[in-house]
Amino acid sequence: MSEASKGSILLVEDEANLARYLELELTHEGYEVEVSHDGLSAIQKALDNDYDLILLDIMLPQLSGLEVCRRIRESKSVPIILLTARSEIPDKVAGLDSGANDYVTKPFAIEELFARIRAHIRRQEQKELEEIVIGNLVISPQARRVFRDEEIILTPREFDLLLYLAMNQGQALSRDQILRAVWGFDFTGDTNVVDVYIRYLRGKIERDNAPKLIHTIRGVGYSLRE
Ligand code: CA
Repeated sequence: MSEASKGSILLVEDEANLARYLELELTHEGYEVEVSHDGLSAIQKALDNDYDLILLDIMLPQLSGLEVCRRIRESKSVPIILLTARSEIPDKVAGLDSGANDYVTKPFAIEELFARIRAHIRRQEQKELEEIVIGNLVISPQARRVFRDEEIILTPREFDLLLYLAMNQGQALSRDQILRAVWGFDFTGDTNVVDVYIRYLRGKIERDNAPKLIHTIRGVGYSLRE
């Protein structure tokens, strides 16, 4: 994987035009893309390579996407996003049962697909992280649990925000940086949502006069440090 790449993706789609369109868009976005047009070659590729993510159409000739998903899942933990047509809605449940992480309904906005891809690749990377310790704050990325003397219960978004701050501890992070990393998309609206979530987080990890960890950096944003 080249340094500039955002990750490698296996795209499994039998409709040639859609496959070509997605391949171009994903490549332009910075991903390395390989394309399979049928289930059997997709399984072979998925087992032979370590992709960061797989985009898998459900309606494939011969072997269905769900069967492909099950077979890949037997030996790989790679995130899998299913591409489903609106008429295949009942397949969603079966899809998640088959071990898929997410599904996107066609037709979809490309930005929505990018956001899902970023979120799943980021979450996969987090699973591989070691425990992070800052003072008496302990974050376990794998278990997605946080402790400061006792366990602190965070919402998924609060956890993602804390983890991002912790992974960049000591750095001054702008609201835009935080939004893009934690919310997973190019946020063009109000960055106030960051301040709101920082407030929630402070309320949970800095309660009972515990030493301050999240510092406001005037004119920039926030920094997590002892
Ligand atoms: Ca198809």
